[in-house]
Amino acid sequence: MTSTLEFDPTTNEPFDYASEIAAGAAPRRRSVGVKVGEGAGAVMVGGGAPVVVQSMTNTDTADVDATVAQVLALARAGSELVRITVDRDEAAAAVPVIREKLARKNCFAPLVGDFHYIGHKLLADHPACAEALDKYRINPGNVGFKDKRDRQFSAIVEMAIRHGKSVRIGANWGSLDQELLTSLMDENAKSASPAAADAVMREAMVRSALLSAARAEDIGLGRDRIILSAKVSAVQQLVAVYRTIARRSDYALHLGLTEAGMGSKGIVASSAALGVLLQEGIGDTIRVSLTPEPGGDRSLEVKVAQEILQTMGFRTFVPLVAACPGCGRTTSTVFQELARDIQRHIIDEMPNWKTRYPGVENLNVAVMGCIVNGPGESKHADIGISLPGTGESPAAPVFIDGQKALTLRGETIAADFKRLVEEYIERRFGRVEKTAAE
Ligand code: SF4
Repeated sequence: MTSTLEFDPTTNEPFDYASEIAAGAAPRRRSVGVKVGEGAGAVMVGGGAPVVVQSMTNTDTADVDATVAQVLALARAGSELVRITVDRDEAAAAVPVIREKLARKNCFAPLVGDFHYIGHKLLADHPACAEALDKYRINPGNVGFKDKRDRQFSAIVEMAIRHGKSVRIGANWGSLDQELLTSLMDENAKSASPAAADAVMREAMVRSALLSAARAEDIGLGRDRIILSAKVSAVQQLVAVYRTIARRSDYALHLGLTEAGMGSKGIVASSAALGVLLQEGIGDTIRVSLTPEPGGDRSLEVKVAQEILQTMGFRTFVPLVAACPGCGRTTSTVFQELARDIQRHIIDEMPNWKTRYPGVENLNVAVMGCIVNGPGESKHADIGISLPGTGESPAAPVFIDGQKALTLRGETIAADFKRLVEEYIERRFGRVEKTAAE
């Protein structure tokens, strides 16, 4: 079946989506590149740069130690930008201290300040905060109301210009600019063929973001300092809103499904929404807004964002472990345990491996449960093992670079395979280190 997308985000021409997929291509929408941060931690968003992963803390920013610890955890997990809430004087005063403490721990991930309602005042009253942050996030729907709105929005933009910072203008379905929405609703009601209320709300989201960006440019903020977002909590609405913004502008875009939710619901909803848009070439930075379990790991949102990008083939972060789902042929838990152990081992070792073994993130490992697909799948991985299924002889052939290398037997199959994976990594990715030392 051939489906035709309404536009090519790069050329604005209709294109045959099915053919693009068949060709393995995901045309990237052209966007203006925005450099966020300076020095070691600087990150390019848009302009053809790889899609950037970002996250947000849920600590009270005024609690310096808790916030430093969480930013560090997020950055170590791979978050390339970290957003923190700046909601009151105590939080604004803490920002430069947080920046300094992070620098002392060699963490230079750009910090984004999340401002609502009183951002203009906080930035004016705390110039050290304005300087320490790398990007300001403003929501045009709650930057102030009526005549104050333009003044307060302008004040934040002027502050960004003065300090050489970039700005994310982030419209949100839950805090949509009510004046704009009301005026569009009125206009729609008078129309001969009124659109559905949802469509009017989407248009209000898009216009809120684009009009605010135009206003920021009028004030003097360069296009290379502006990133747009328009977050919605429903997948289809989000896709529609971003397609429209992508078609109407070339600003760098921050993608995220707002209020995605907890656990698998949040992961699936974010993956579905972001997957569609990324495949269409839309999106320069992503955040997966997961609600953590009480006391849960905030870094999960970083891992999910990375896995979305890696499984879609846009970036590589950690070696992939392909494992079959298991079935009636795997009545023991050996295979699940080995798949889990290998995955954990890789995640635990990655911080060391990244520096010792450049390129190790491209490694593919397969852990398969039986002879049906085991040898075939293992041959496609760099290193793979086909464990014995129920009733099969207790032997586990190991495939390296597509060739059967050896067969493991006995009680130590799991430990032996882990050792083989390490030896493979050393042999293949340790070459650069050895060459440099020679
Ligand atoms: S490889 Fe074997 S154990 Fe795994 S799902 Fe397929 S048939 Fe089942």
